[in-house]
Amino acid sequence: MVHRMSHPSGRATRRQIAQKFVWIGMNKDITAWAKACLQCQRSKITRHNHFIPEKIRVPDALFEHVHLDLIGPLPPVSGLKYCLTLINRFSRWPEAVPLQDISADTVAKHFFTIWVSRFGASKLITTDRGAQFVATLFNALTNLIGTKRNRTTAYHPESNGLIERWHRTLKVAIMCRSNPNWVDTLPVVLLGLRSSF
Ligand SMILES: [Zn+2]
Repeated sequence: MVHRMSHPSGRATRRQIAQKFVWIGMNKDITAWAKACLQCQRSKITRHNHFIPEKIRVPDALFEHVHLDLIGPLPPVSGLKYCLTLINRFSRWPEAVPLQDISADTVAKHFFTIWVSRFGASKLITTDRGAQFVATLFNALTNLIGTKRNRTTAYHPESNGLIERWHRTLKVAIMCRSNPNWVDTLPVVLLGLRSSF
């Protein structure tokens, strides 16, 4: 039950279970369980490229810096086939929302609804979607909320290793679910991620 919410690593699964349960040989059992999980084996990347770390400014306020990405196309559920994922760099708070399309207008509208309306406008948005996408997204946002353009930075995987890995965890967790109705299971995935280390 614990592992299948968001398919965390063996170590994270152990820490979560150890908060509430104890039995003889639990570490060995949980490690073996997580290792044997078929959905994990299907969806997770086990080999990673290593980048030289680059200094990135530590934000001094919550929700100042948001990482934004798009997953898809996923198996369509009532016309929803993309997923907008958002993570705050400081708190690691994740949000995800199913989308019908990934036009700048649609992304801007949902970014406003699930992020700006709750946490305020972020000073910095990072994405690996490319400068053109960011420019169109910000035009759409400007039209929507009438603010001046936000500052943005291009995506540097080498400087965002930590958050990039975390973002991949979110994406893998969504894709790990064996239920093809990923839209229905999304809240459970988010619950699992928000409650795991
Ligand atoms: Zn798993």
